[in-house]
Amino acid sequence: MFDSHAHYDDERFDEDREGLLDAIDADDSMTGIINASVDITSSEKLIALAALRKKHYAAVGIHPHEAEHAGSGYIEKLREFASAEKVVAIGEIGLDYHYDFSPRDIQRGVFEEQLILAKELSLPVIIHDREAHQDCIEAVLRYPELKGVFHSFSGSAETANILLKRGWYLSFNGIITFKNAAKPRSVAQIVPDDRLLIETDCPYLSPVPLRGRRNDSRNLRYIEAELANLRGQTIEHIEKITTENAKRLFGIK
Ligand SMILES: [Zn+2]
Repeated sequence: MFDSHAHYDDERFDEDREGLLDAIDADDSMTGIINASVDITSSEKLIALAALRKKHYAAVGIHPHEAEHAGSGYIEKLREFASAEKVVAIGEIGLDYHYDFSPRDIQRGVFEEQLILAKELSLPVIIHDREAHQDCIEAVLRYPELKGVFHSFSGSAETANILLKRGWYLSFNGIITFKNAAKPRSVAQIVPDDRLLIETDCPYLSPVPLRGRRNDSRNLRYIEAELANLRGQTIEHIEKITTENAKRLFGIK
């Protein structure tokens, strides 16, 4: 299983991080994990984690919630971070019009600057898009050379098709196991085999039957099972294609 989006620097892992990561390392069903950053500090922590843990890789970037606090010179710092070993993407970056923790114009500016950086560095991007589908799509399509994934995809089938046509990947997590999540559950059925990714977004979004508890990468098995059910495919097939897709997108051998 390949977890394309996790947050092992989150404080909810502080009390037992090393033991948990040892257990995940020892789990032969886990192939790889991409840790997504939310700010400069988390980018530094996740580069250090990836250097110590064989299955872990890092994405560096400023989350839209933190856009207002990006600080001067953040692009130079990210550019420097990107040269570290096992940094495979810029992320997570994007727009969040649900919480609006940073003013929207600042979110858009920080997002755009990071898209330009990713283009310059030829790195894929990990997009966070919450209730900002139109602006997110317009932004990424301004850079046709860019490739990447919309994580925790929550848009319509129409939005999905625009992105799929332009080569983007879509990623799904525990939300597809929630009964009230009709939209992502139906969109997950139309994504072609070669564009599908899975993620936990841990410690958040534990799948049913663990909803409400702290999440970790081993719970991907519930997401794989639900995708297999929705798409009429075997769990083994889902596991194979999502692992191949993650390795292809993030350039992992
Ligand atoms: Zn995330």
